[in-house]
Amino acid sequence: MIRITLTVLTFVLSQTGFAETLLVSTQEEYENAVEALEPGDTIVLANGEWRDFEILFTGTGEPDNPITLTAETKGEVFITGQSNLRIAGEYLVVSGLVFRDGYTPTNTVISFRRTRGDLAYHSRVTETVIDHFNNPERQETDFWVMMYGKNNRFDHNHLVGKSNAGVTMAVRLDSEESQQNRHRIDHNYFGPRPVLGSNGGETLRIGTSQYSLTDSLTVVENNFFDRCNGELEIISIKSGSNTLRGNLFVESRGTLTFRHGNGNLVENNVFLGNGVDHTGGIRVINFDQIVRNNYLHGLTGHRFGGAFVVMNGVPDSPINRYFQVDNALIENNTIIDSDHIELAAGSDEERSATPVNSVFRSNLIHNEDRRNIVTVHDDISGIEFRANALNGVEDSPLADGFDNSGFELRRAANGLLYPVDEALADAGVSRDLQVLDRSNTGVSWYPKPGPDNRFDTGDTIEIEPGLDTLTDAAAGADAGDVITMAPGEYLVTKTIVVDCPLTFQAAAGTATVEFERTALFELVDDGSLKLDGVTISGRAAPDVAGNSAIRTSRYSMLNNFILIVRNATVEDLNTNHSFNFFTSSKHTFADRIEIADSSFSDITGHILPLNREIDDLGLYNGEYISITGSSFRNIEGAVADIYRGGTDESTFGPHFELRSSSLESVGIGSRNKSEASVRLHGVQDTNIVDNEFADSQPVRVTHIVGEPVTMMSRNRFIETPEPHMIEFVAQ
Ligand code: CA
Repeated sequence: MIRITLTVLTFVLSQTGFAETLLVSTQEEYENAVEALEPGDTIVLANGEWRDFEILFTGTGEPDNPITLTAETKGEVFITGQSNLRIAGEYLVVSGLVFRDGYTPTNTVISFRRTRGDLAYHSRVTETVIDHFNNPERQETDFWVMMYGKNNRFDHNHLVGKSNAGVTMAVRLDSEESQQNRHRIDHNYFGPRPVLGSNGGETLRIGTSQYSLTDSLTVVENNFFDRCNGELEIISIKSGSNTLRGNLFVESRGTLTFRHGNGNLVENNVFLGNGVDHTGGIRVINFDQIVRNNYLHGLTGHRFGGAFVVMNGVPDSPINRYFQVDNALIENNTIIDSDHIELAAGSDEERSATPVNSVFRSNLIHNEDRRNIVTVHDDISGIEFRANALNGVEDSPLADGFDNSGFELRRAANGLLYPVDEALADAGVSRDLQVLDRSNTGVSWYPKPGPDNRFDTGDTIEIEPGLDTLTDAAAGADAGDVITMAPGEYLVTKTIVVDCPLTFQAAAGTATVEFERTALFELVDDGSLKLDGVTISGRAAPDVAGNSAIRTSRYSMLNNFILIVRNATVEDLNTNHSFNFFTSSKHTFADRIEIADSSFSDITGHILPLNREIDDLGLYNGEYISITGSSFRNIEGAVADIYRGGTDESTFGPHFELRSSSLESVGIGSRNKSEASVRLHGVQDTNIVDNEFADSQPVRVTHIVGEPVTMMSRNRFIETPEPHMIEFVAQ
């Protein structure tokens, strides 16, 4: 009697799930719990820090009865140190974890597989955060999320601040078990990814060239890409039959690129560049691609990074080069106030296969100032243009298939601009296109970062001259603080390590800083420096070669720094030879260096040597370098020596500006190997305007990659050779 009852009871319980919830507090408890999981069970990680935790989550759940790994409280379980997560099995769900303050010891933080043969299927990672979980070595490649298997979902996650090499997230198709995968990637927040300064900074990649003729069938929808600036490709599609829809791209440099693979659909996406440099839209390559109903506004990018780009292909292309555009359908897209549309882009001896069998119809292109933004690089007779609208562009290279009468735009309730004229109602995006609601992406309990206003947001600290008053103030300062220096003499006996954004500002009068170490300031990770009105003298520096007023860490730096020098006087950096104003190290990167209204004299080294990436791998040391309104006298090295080697085309910079400045006796030291007052090697964008060079070495510019633009005008050269240009890429 009893026996029968028990049997019935057991049966009933297993049918209803018999679900257990196991709260674990140690790694050992976790490992014991994970071995005995049944469908419907939940493992809960106790709140707090889990350090050096390589989580292996395996099991076999059921369609309506998954096995779950979650946090006691979402956002209060921190996975730190040398940690990662591997998921293998079926119907598994992970949620609520935060990865921060560490990095993966393997090549991936979250992997949808245990080993090459043991993958995840029908599994989901949701409401999980990865925040600056970076290998400390900038050029050490790893990945934050790798999707393998089939039918997996990655949704409502928050990924922010990947700054070492390696794509943030990738879908892999490297075995049959991972092909035709039907993954879903939705409602994620892809937060700011800084400029990497080399290839390998993509935010999302689907496939690789090797398997690119295989279908992936991945859906990428309703994700928010916020300032994803890693490199030229925000998203790199390298497989077939994927759908990317409803995503929002804000101020992200680069493009959504159909790099390899065929039959992909990109629709209903919104790109808002807000006029930020190098923001781009969509780049089309390969067969059977559909680009429909996308809204692109305020995008400034050019060449392969333009608002809209159709590439030329390579005849009989190897799988890793460029297939011809064939049978592309490009319809009902709206492109407003953007700078570049490039057709048959990349046309050269190798890329000679022009687009064929393609249709460009019912698209709307509007620039308020009616300037032409279209560049046609080759024969585009293989694109049929029909029923497109253009806002009265006088010198448009596109005529047939365009209504080029002027038209007005009006903002609709969805925030997007539409033509007022009813006759154009069918051109551009549909009236019901919805802009993604940013608050429906990522998680609610982890803030999305605001604007990067790193300087002058904190307290003002007033200091008096004297021995190490500057050092002490800097040591006690927090991010954004402004240290105001009363006039007088400051002596610094220890290198000031700058590990957060700090401003040093001289009050009225002269505040002179001398220093006794080999550097006055050293920028380390998270550090940025602004000097305003300060006088720096090298007179007290040690009598050794190779001092610097400012230097970066000697080791790799993950976070890009900013250096601003205004109204400064820098003198007598000459206690020994090769005394630089600034010294960078390999694998450090400046987002911006700006020198304005400053004077430099009697210096035995360089002012801005950004020349430490010499392996010709496409790396460099700084993105925007600007010198304006400044004077340089008796400088043995170069004012700027910028080196970007290699032929890789994944990056935007460097950019260099020298304006309204005077150079006298610059570059004349015997140790100046560049034999230049300004040497620019592989710089992409140069403006040298309104300067006077006297008794100096020449400007030397070498074009090695991309389509570099060098502007030199209104410069005077007195007892100085004319600029010396070497051209390897000229057309
Ligand atoms: Ca790339």
